[in-house]
Amino acid sequence: MSNKQSTLLSEQNSLLQFDKENVWHPYTSMSEPLPSYLVESAQGVMINLASGEQLIDGMSSWWSVLHGYNHPILNKALQDQAAKMSHVMFGGLTHQSAITLCEKLIRLTPQGLDKVFLSDSGSVSVEVAMKMALQYQHAVAANNKAPLTKTKLLTVKNGYHGDTFAAMSVCDPVTGMHQIFEQVLMQHYFAPAPSIKFGETWSTDETIELTKLFANHHNEIAAFIIEPIVQGTGGMRFYHPEYLKACRQLCDQYDVLMIVDEIATGFGRTGKLFACEWADISPDIMCLGKTLTGGYITLAATLCSSHIAKTISKGEAGCFMHGPTFMGNALACAVANASIDLLIKNDWQAQVKNIENTLTTLLNPLIHHQRVKDVRVLGSIGAVECKQAVNVANIQKRFVELGVWIRPFGKLIYIIPPLIITTEQLTCLAGAIATVLAEDECFSS
Ligand SMILES: *Cc1c(COP(=O)(O)O)cnc(C)c1O
Repeated sequence: MSNKQSTLLSEQNSLLQFDKENVWHPYTSMSEPLPSYLVESAQGVMINLASGEQLIDGMSSWWSVLHGYNHPILNKALQDQAAKMSHVMFGGLTHQSAITLCEKLIRLTPQGLDKVFLSDSGSVSVEVAMKMALQYQHAVAANNKAPLTKTKLLTVKNGYHGDTFAAMSVCDPVTGMHQIFEQVLMQHYFAPAPSIKFGETWSTDETIELTKLFANHHNEIAAFIIEPIVQGTGGMRFYHPEYLKACRQLCDQYDVLMIVDEIATGFGRTGKLFACEWADISPDIMCLGKTLTGGYITLAATLCSSHIAKTISKGEAGCFMHGPTFMGNALACAVANASIDLLIKNDWQAQVKNIENTLTTLLNPLIHHQRVKDVRVLGSIGAVECKQAVNVANIQKRFVELGVWIRPFGKLIYIIPPLIITTEQLTCLAGAIATVLAEDECFSS
C-alpha cells in the first residue's frame, strides 16, 4: 500500500469511527450500531463506496430514486434554481417552481384532488392530512351547530405512515412502536390487515370486520387512512384492488374522509402512476413524498378536494393551521418538476413493465428454496419473504462483497431499484439474493 493510500484509509477509518460514536442512524443501537458503509459518490444505478467497491443499488435510497444518481438533467434543474434562489418563505411569497409543481400534481393525480399543501417529508404530509381531516370535521360540526364527535381515525393493521406522533398513531399497533408511546399516542380504530393478495380471487368476506367498524363507530371517525395496494414497511404486502374500492365505498356511505398514503407507491412504482388507479378511485386526501423529487431532496405534498379546502377555510380559524418554514422550497420544487418531466419523457410504463417482467423471471424460481416462504413482484417492487429473520449485519456485508446494495429487514429481502436499471444489473441483484439464501451466517442470530 502506498503512503497516499494508507493516509486515505486512516482518514476513512476516523470518519467511520466518529460516525459510529456520535451519529444516530435509523433503527440501530447507538451503543452497538450496525455497521455503516462510507459512500464517496453515486452515479446512475451505482453507489461508490470510499473503500472502492461499486454497488448496484437495489433500494433506490429507500424507494426515492427514480432516474438514478447524479443525473445531468436533475443536477441542472437544481443549479438553475440555486442561481435564482434556493428558498424564499412561502408566507406572502410564491414562485414559479412551486406553482408549476402544484399544477403538475393536480393534473396527474386522480380526479378531484385540486388543492396542494407542500411540506418537508412524508411523515409531515401525513400529519397534514390527518390535521386537514380533523379540521374539516371541526368546521362541519360547527356549521351544523352540532357537537364535534368525529375525532378519531380508522385504519388497517400492518400499515406504516411515518415516524412523527400523529403518523405513528396510525402505524401497526404491534410493530409500530405503540407499546413504548402508549400513554401519549392518540387512540384510533384498527381493522384487520387486508389478507386477499393482489391477483388472488376476491371475496366480499374480506371487508366484514372493516364494515362493522365503520357501522359501529362512524360517528367518531373523521377519516380512514390506508396505503393503497402495497403495505410497504409492513412487509411489502400487495393486496387486492377490490379492497381499496370497498374502502372508498364505505367512506362514502358513512361520511368518513378517505386519506390515501401514496408516499411509497406514487409515481409509477406499482405499474400505475398512482396505486389508487388499480381500484379506479379518488381519495379525498392524498399524501405524496419519497419519489417526488426523484430522490434528490426531501419534499412532500398533501392534496385534497376543493370541498375540504373550502370547508376548512370557512371554519372558525379561517385557514388551515399549518405552515412549515421550508414550505414550497424552491430547490426541491425545481428538481421535482424535472423528475416528473423525465418520468413522462422516459416512458415510465415501459421501464416499470420491463423491471416487473425481469424480476418475475429471476425471483419466482427462488420460491423453491427451503428458506423462502413467498416471492412476490408488483411493478418495480420485488420481495423475497424468508421463513426466518435475516442477520442484517452479516447479510449486508455479503451483499456488499457481491457488489450490490440491498438492505433487508426482518424476514424480508426486497428490491425496489431505480427505473433506469438494466436487465444485467437486475440479474446481479437477483443472483446476489440467490447466493445469500444459501449462506447460514446471513440468517443466524
Ligand atoms: C416512507 C413512508 C412515510 C414516511 O415518509 P418520511 O419521508 O420518511 O417521513 C409515510 N408513509 C409511507 C407509506 C411511507 O412509505
